[in-house]
Amino acid sequence: MSDLNDDLRHKKDAFLIPEGVIYLDGNSLGVLPRHVPERVSEVVREEWGSSLIRAWNTHSWIDLPLRTGDRIGRLVGAPEGTVVACDSTSVNVFKVLSAALSLRPDRKVILSDNGNFPTDLYVASGLKELLSRGHELKIVDPEDVEAALGDDVAIMMLTQVDYRTGRLHDMTELTRRAHEAGALAVWDLAHSAGAIEVDLLGAKADFAIGCGYKYLNGGPGAPAFLYVAPEHLDHVTSPLTGWMGHEAPFAFDLDYRPVTGIMRMTVGTPAILALSSLYSALDVFDDVDMADLRTKSISLSELFISQVEAKCPELALASPRDPQQRGSQVSFRFQEGYAAMQALIARGVIGDFRAPDVMRFGFTPLYLSHQDVVDAVDILSEILKTRSWDSPEFKTRAKVT
Ligand SMILES: *Cc1c(COP(=O)(O)O)cnc(C)c1O
Repeated sequence: MSDLNDDLRHKKDAFLIPEGVIYLDGNSLGVLPRHVPERVSEVVREEWGSSLIRAWNTHSWIDLPLRTGDRIGRLVGAPEGTVVACDSTSVNVFKVLSAALSLRPDRKVILSDNGNFPTDLYVASGLKELLSRGHELKIVDPEDVEAALGDDVAIMMLTQVDYRTGRLHDMTELTRRAHEAGALAVWDLAHSAGAIEVDLLGAKADFAIGCGYKYLNGGPGAPAFLYVAPEHLDHVTSPLTGWMGHEAPFAFDLDYRPVTGIMRMTVGTPAILALSSLYSALDVFDDVDMADLRTKSISLSELFISQVEAKCPELALASPRDPQQRGSQVSFRFQEGYAAMQALIARGVIGDFRAPDVMRFGFTPLYLSHQDVVDAVDILSEILKTRSWDSPEFKTRAKVT
């Protein structure tokens, strides 16, 4: 596919991409949309600066978690009022998992896989300790999840797209199998939202969480999101019962009564500046058909794989070869992957590295072209051919890789 018949090529102008940079890390931190700085500045100067406390009402700050949630909901197949933007993904995993476990009080197993992002597993393990009710966190290989769905499983908790390899779980099928086994399904959409087509309602997912700063471009540490299926909304209880989840926060009652609806999963005062950035960043998706986005994502990643395999024989594909089995990233293994990635970044091609040897490249169809992919691989192949990565400056590990 050439860029000429690329329906999304005009979207690149909506982003501020630094001169000389080919950005293949939108799966870790999305690029700044061009209009966001002005909008955030307006919120700071006019809403905060001038309206002060009145802005909670006059600028509907109080509803911003819900309004942002509804915008994200449209990208992941969730009906209005079922998604809220709040807290971090890790905190949302804690709340959702606890809520889900209370819906299956007689079962003790939380089932996950070893392709899950560690924070999800750490949170599950911490919650299990805190509850002290004999729960077991069972971690199996990704391909063994289905077989592990016994009648002791309370919750199947999976990340749809593997952060290292991009391997994509079949959300609809695995959720169906979980339900057949009497379990509930919790899906982490950190690498799915804004990257692939997701249909939470159609897949009958029970709960979902996801990230605001990756493909949704909300900015570093942007609020995350949380979904509860309509049939559970009125039955779930959050383990963090803060006043924003109360039926009447401003009644200042001494007893806790959860509000009806998704706001009961929130805790404290929303981070308005961060939410404003995320809300505003979501504008770029307004005229985007997620099917077109997926088509271009596959086309970019297929081109990348074929170019790398033709020009960089040192690298071994770590992602599934079938594009239907991948999210929107491609990973290659290379023993000196860390140094090679640093050398690549020094040349303006930004991807990242995941231990022990994975070079990871994210494909964000809104701001990447096919030409970018070809140019990036040419630079990568030159670095490998000349071994320019083999230099002390590229081998010192930074705190963030
Ligand atoms: C990125 C990511 C997170 C990040 O969680 P934070 O609380 O935002 O640090 C969590 N889970 C998955 C699967 C991720 O990919």
